[in-house]
Amino acid sequence: MAKIIILGAGFGGLDAALMLRKKVKDEIFVIDRSKFHNFIPSLDEVVAKNVKQEKLQINLEKLFLKKTDFMQDEIVRIDTERKVVVTKTNTLHYDALLVALGSEPDFIDNFQENSIAFKTMADATRIAEDFEKLFDRDSAAIMIIGAGSTGAELACTMMERKEKLCKKKGKKPENFKITLVEKRERVLHRLPEQVAQVAEGYIKEMKVEIMLNEEAVSSEKGKIMLKSGKTMESDMIIWCAGIKSSILISESNLPMEKGSLKVNKFLQAEGFEDIFAVGDCMRFIEDGQEISWTAINATQQAEVVAENIAFFLTKKPLTEYRPKKNPILLKLGRNNGIFWNHEKMTRGYYAAKLKKFVEKYHIFTRKHGKMMKLLY
Ligand SMILES: Cc1cc2nc3c(=O)[nH]c(=O)nc-3n(C[C@H](O)[C@H](O)[C@H](O)COP(=O)(O)OP(=O)(O)OC[C@H]3O[C@@H](n4cnc5c(N)ncnc54)[C@H](O)[C@@H]3O)c2cc1C
Repeated sequence: MAKIIILGAGFGGLDAALMLRKKVKDEIFVIDRSKFHNFIPSLDEVVAKNVKQEKLQINLEKLFLKKTDFMQDEIVRIDTERKVVVTKTNTLHYDALLVALGSEPDFIDNFQENSIAFKTMADATRIAEDFEKLFDRDSAAIMIIGAGSTGAELACTMMERKEKLCKKKGKKPENFKITLVEKRERVLHRLPEQVAQVAEGYIKEMKVEIMLNEEAVSSEKGKIMLKSGKTMESDMIIWCAGIKSSILISESNLPMEKGSLKVNKFLQAEGFEDIFAVGDCMRFIEDGQEISWTAINATQQAEVVAENIAFFLTKKPLTEYRPKKNPILLKLGRNNGIFWNHEKMTRGYYAAKLKKFVEKYHIFTRKHGKMMKLLY
């Protein structure tokens, strides 16, 4: 029996594991530093305390009780020569390896010390706590660096939380400012212009300040410095301005391209027929375009990779990964959403509720070991 090791049980790793266990009789071993699979797209809801974190989590030990082994551990090295994965407590041999380690914040200058990233469940709970403490004062400035979808969604949900906290603690809302700092000339620069325009309207409606064409270049405790020469006082700085592939990739002797794992059209690491990759840890180019790092792409890649691992072990020809043109779903506060599907836009309440529905659907299906998708 062959041994398949899956590194990471996020969007890509979890779905690949669920599919693989239906396809093969081989041993499957999933390793993650966290005991839980977290529904990352709703982390802003944790910051706003709209949802308890348990509602966004799947206990991996319980899920993988049958047919799959799960180990909660920190992966420290991938040794491709010895075909082993080294964790803090173990060294495990693999016949086929899936790297699904995701990404981490790509801080510049000393933002790592002076800001909080918005990437994990732990980040979200820390932001929620620190944010609430600010309302013991009479005023505060919160700066969110980066007005991509994570920054924009976070700013809007924090604004709603702000209103509640001001009421609860008897503070004036106008004294608590939430600002999005963006180096480009528009918000959501990776998304179509029409989507960005509607989103900007919602963000402004919610009284989030937007500073465009302003690049945060350095920071001190309580301050950020902009390229334009301005200095902004900030009681809380949140980093939403960039991510990079898991650092572990660059520390292993795996093929790299621009800081990410380089894969071929079958999602195999270049030059390694037994190593596959999905999600944010790898770079896939089609027609000169880099495929974006999203949950929706990671879960689609997981389908291909699960099939290809099974084919590799049975020596069958592999399937090519063909990226799809996926819909966009944003939630900018409880009732303002945007659903963009093949140039058609639905906006407002129903789009916001759709995102909530996708979240519940994802958690419910995966908790029951089903790999049924509604977007991701
Ligand atoms: C706040 C936020 C909101 C987002 N919203 C959306 C959205 O609305 N729609 C969308 O499509 N995408 C969204 N994304 C992007 C999406 O979450 C990622 O693209 C997706 O999670 C990538 O899946 P992955 O499997 O590559 O990595 P991940 O889901 O990040 O999983 C990686 C896993 O590897 C584990 N791991 C990493 N390193 C180690 C190690 N050394 N040892 C052990 N375990 C390790 C981690 O614990 C994690 O479980 C959002 C991202 C963020 C941060």
